[in-house]
Amino acid sequence: MKNQTSTCDHHGCWHEPTDKWLTWANLITAVRTAGCVVLTMLAIAQNSTTLLFAGLLVYWVGDMADGMVARLLHRETRIGGIFDILCDRLCVALFYLTYASWHHAMLIPIAIFMVQFMVLDNFLTLSFQRWPLKSPNYFYLVDKMIYKWNWSKPAKALNSSALVLVMVITGSPIAAGILAAAIFVLKVMSLRRLQQIGMPEATGCTVGATD
Ligand SMILES: [Zn+2]
Repeated sequence: MKNQTSTCDHHGCWHEPTDKWLTWANLITAVRTAGCVVLTMLAIAQNSTTLLFAGLLVYWVGDMADGMVARLLHRETRIGGIFDILCDRLCVALFYLTYASWHHAMLIPIAIFMVQFMVLDNFLTLSFQRWPLKSPNYFYLVDKMIYKWNWSKPAKALNSSALVLVMVITGSPIAAGILAAAIFVLKVMSLRRLQQIGMPEATGCTVGATD
């Protein structure tokens, strides 16, 4: 296998020949996900809104903490990035489906959001693996526009917390629906742009090593 040792100094480029599985950041991701799952299940068992939001809070705080620890310890790994993305989907799905089952007025906005977050955004977010990038946080090295729409600080806040805040603060299914639809459109536009850019393909024979 060819060991690609590129000498660029972009912080977001991935130069390691192997990836680390056991990192502090991954441990935090595992713990915050377990905490979120347990709290959400308890919330369902006890019909408790407080526990449901406690689970969401554990997810939010833990999600900020794992990324921060990875950056501070200079241990941003691709495996950690993927693990984080998968755990996010689980926690977000648990929260929104439980919330929807208790607030039927929000079923349509949440349905739009679920398709967007579990399929469109999931595909977009995992697409960083097609490039030698550490994580989607460095996608600006590929395309500034897609990065700005999806993984810049304001875009991330819009992604993960805007809908729940609008639902809780306004209580309006119309407002929530408009927001969910707007994010959906943004994701479709991002996918369209990704298609125009073209994603690198891994081609050739998987079994026979070709040099
Ligand atoms: Zn580079």
